[in-house]
Amino acid sequence: MRQGRDLVVDPQSHAGEVARFLNHVVRGPGRQDCWLWTGAIGSDGYGRFALRRGGWRQVGMVRPSRYALALALAGQPLPGEVRALHECDVTLCVRVVTEQELVAGVRPHVTAGTQRENMEQMVARGRGGGRPRLIARGAGLRARRERALALREAVRSGWDSAAVEEAMLGGQPRLW
Ligand SMILES: [Zn+2]
Repeated sequence: MRQGRDLVVDPQSHAGEVARFLNHVVRGPGRQDCWLWTGAIGSDGYGRFALRRGGWRQVGMVRPSRYALALALAGQPLPGEVRALHECDVTLCVRVVTEQELVAGVRPHVTAGTQRENMEQMVARGRGGGRPRLIARGAGLRARRERALALREAVRSGWDSAAVEEAMLGGQPRLW
């Protein structure tokens, strides 16, 4: 994970990489919908995007949400200490809402924040970061990863609203 270093995504010089990234993103049709990552998913339930840049000895892995934040900066560096926060609480979401969209009432999805804000958000949403018992944390991780896998499966052949809704609910039976 290269969360410790600045990330630059230049629309021109990284055009091929950006295209490869966007190939793994399925956008929900609704105005408030998430845009979901459909590439690799790590054991933590977050996505993984491999960067193979010249000069890097090894493949660098970044979270797709972090890459999306850097992409939105259009070439300006995303500082290493900035964290990608998931306001929508969907780990696979890579949607960065523009200022104009926010003003127009679109809810935020992936936003830039500090490590402190990230921890506060994780605690508030029961994603660890506090001091939960290990067993509870393991179960939470598993559930988060399973939800991510189910969501990815739900959009494998394009956005399927019913399947997405079911995956968001974590496989709970529907109430009818
Ligand atoms: Zn979202």
